[in-house]
Amino acid sequence: MKSIKYITKSGLKQFKPVCTEEKFSTLSEENIGWCLACGTEANGVEPDARKYTCEECNKPKVYGLEELLMMGLVAFKNKKNNSLQISDL
Ligand SMILES: [Zn+2]
Repeated sequence: MKSIKYITKSGLKQFKPVCTEEKFSTLSEENIGWCLACGTEANGVEPDARKYTCEECNKPKVYGLEELLMMGLVAFKNKKNNSLQISDL
């Protein structure tokens, strides 16, 4: 997935995923997670996982995709109204 940079309420630069809804649900079923700190996909992450440690940057910022969706941290390409809400994580 591609990533876009966003700024949290506390001023941290983080990355959230951008993809189509189809791809998102496929990746979610394959237990792909996402690191908000460095914008990298992670394997073996349940959709509702929270705060797993990232193998790339060692920060506890890996979340399951369903969890990201609930937090409003997924940007869908094929939607007109991208939810660009920013959570402070
Ligand atoms: Zn990371």
